Amino acid sequence: GSTIGMLGAGQLGRMTALAAARLGYKTHVFAPDAAGSPAAQVSASATVADWNDLGALERFARSVDVVTLEWENVPVATVEHLRRFTGVHPGPNLLSVAQDRIAEKSFVNGLGIATAPWRPANDAGEVARAAAEIGPRCVLKSTRLGYDGKGQARLDEGSDPAAAWSAIGGGKPGVAGIVEGFVTFACEVSVIVARGADGAMVAYPAVENRHKDGILDVTIAPAQVSAATAAEADRIARRIAEALDLVGVLAVEMFVTPDGAVLVNEMAPRPHNSGHWTMDACATCQFEQLVRAVCGLPLGSVERLADAEMTNLIGDDVDRWPDLLAEPGVRLHLYGKAEARPGRKMGHVNRLLPRR
Ligand code: ATP
Ligand code: MG
Ligand code: MG
Repeated sequence: GSTIGMLGAGQLGRMTALAAARLGYKTHVFAPDAAGSPAAQVSASATVADWNDLGALERFARSVDVVTLEWENVPVATVEHLRRFTGVHPGPNLLSVAQDRIAEKSFVNGLGIATAPWRPANDAGEVARAAAEIGPRCVLKSTRLGYDGKGQARLDEGSDPAAAWSAIGGGKPGVAGIVEGFVTFACEVSVIVARGADGAMVAYPAVENRHKDGILDVTIAPAQVSAATAAEADRIARRIAEALDLVGVLAVEMFVTPDGAVLVNEMAPRPHNSGHWTMDACATCQFEQLVRAVCGLPLGSVERLADAEMTNLIGDDVDRWPDLLAEPGVRLHLYGKAEARPGRKMGHVNRLLPRR
């Protein structure tokens, strides 16, 4: 049988490994924190090593048939090294765009696709200037490594730019900033695209995402937006996937403004939390699509068999799991994490609803 190499050891790697197993593939996880991890628990093998351990990377690459990832911040140099020995999808060019908010927004704007207005800002003075140009309401973000709303500070009339700059780690080595105009959105949507090496492409319908404390709380599938808005979100996600020559799965997060305009927020070149509903409601889930795309198999049908609502179990929410199991029509997914720290994604539930 064939083996998929997985960079990163979290729940996305776990659910990919489970989908891979169904198709007869083994998974070998590589991550500094792989020991006992959600992904390693369900994989055939795991390597615990640093991203810059060249020897361990070579042994890993030689032991698998193809490499993919569940965390887009794997250093590009790691991927470049692995590529000497085996195929890695998505590749380094795509990763370098997706790892940096400035590269990402420049790329998207270069395709003629709109984002919130933005400016790079690398000290308190530049934050103040950017806020004066595009504010007063804006969001200062670190350009790299943010997730779940971490590394962000909101700015408004009378905010202290220096406080915001230091709140996101400004001044620390390697920390750069971007100021984005605050979007008063009607809703947030995302589209997940899968694309094979032959250019074949499928996309799930746009879904609506509601956040709580910067963390995804609920995904509603499909999004309750106009057909025109859904079509525009689909067009944008496909255009980006094609322009990046994606092989794998890509999620594009977007804002829908009150007048129906669609602005790209960010993207993730991997399965995405807002695609977890596909596990129970679609003919083929996003994790299986990743396996198919990187292994050169035909992509699966994205047919929606039911509407769905996905709710994340964050921190202590997971304590309710026996009650959730008892609820008819609820599909429970737990990630095998021992410690329910606040803000930590422990699992999710999918509720299936009749198709509208
Ligand atoms: P993720 O966990 O999705 O990777 P992240 O930490 O990379 O999140 P973003 O997606 O950029 O951060 O922001 C998190 C959330 O904060 C967004 O989904 C949105 O609700 C809100 N947000 C971010 N940027 C803006 C903006 N410019 N205007 C309005 N709201 C915003
Ligand atoms: Mg993000
Ligand atoms: Mg986001």
